[in-house]
Amino acid sequence: MREYTIHPLTVGARETDQGIMTYLRGYGKTIWMGVYAFLIKGAEQNILVDTGLDQFVVPDHILAEYPNILDFEESLARFDLSPESIDLIIHTHLHNDHCENDYKCTNAKIIVQKAEYDFLLNPHPIDYRYFPDLLDGLNVETVEGDFHLMDGIDLILTPGHTPGGQSVAVHTSAGLAVIPGFCCNSKNFPADGPVVAPGVHTDAIAGFESAQRVRKMADILIPLHDMEVGKMEKIPA
Ligand SMILES: [Zn+2]
Repeated sequence: MREYTIHPLTVGARETDQGIMTYLRGYGKTIWMGVYAFLIKGAEQNILVDTGLDQFVVPDHILAEYPNILDFEESLARFDLSPESIDLIIHTHLHNDHCENDYKCTNAKIIVQKAEYDFLLNPHPIDYRYFPDLLDGLNVETVEGDFHLMDGIDLILTPGHTPGGQSVAVHTSAGLAVIPGFCCNSKNFPADGPVVAPGVHTDAIAGFESAQRVRKMADILIPLHDMEVGKMEKIPA
């Protein structure tokens, strides 16, 4: 089977409450969350998982600690890539902090679960982070359910945080690395107990089961918004 490496690009960061990540846990604790695009290397094509935020402001003390926080174009340039050179974008889900740079990737095919794309186009007002025009005019292809994308890369339907979240399972030299299809950090996966459902959810029980599913299958789990993920140059190291 083909082996890949995953390179987290930190295209944004924001201050929030831990309760955004962990249902019924950590409320009132202020944290920083990283916003990532993940470059997958090892395929014939240039592949990204999510594209992050278009514009963001991060204070100097956070930049000092996390110097890899760069805008989308600068992040890609570190790998001699440009937005136009991206062939394929896989979306975990379509909250705006995961897809704001898609419009720059004019040559990319965008893969998303049908339930998620439908929700983007017709969002429920309970969740204000869907902007229906974000993927307008782009080459969107929907899939339904678990989907074998290519040798060594599988998409796993993991709803709950949103209606059609999908996790990305990537074969590496150190086993199966999984990018969860829902907003989380390391506190969702405590070593000494059950997983914690996403704090933001459309179905908390489905979110719990999705978190359990990815933890069970992953040799390497990459919490989607954990600040420490951005310090990793590549996965596996
Ligand atoms: Zn989200």
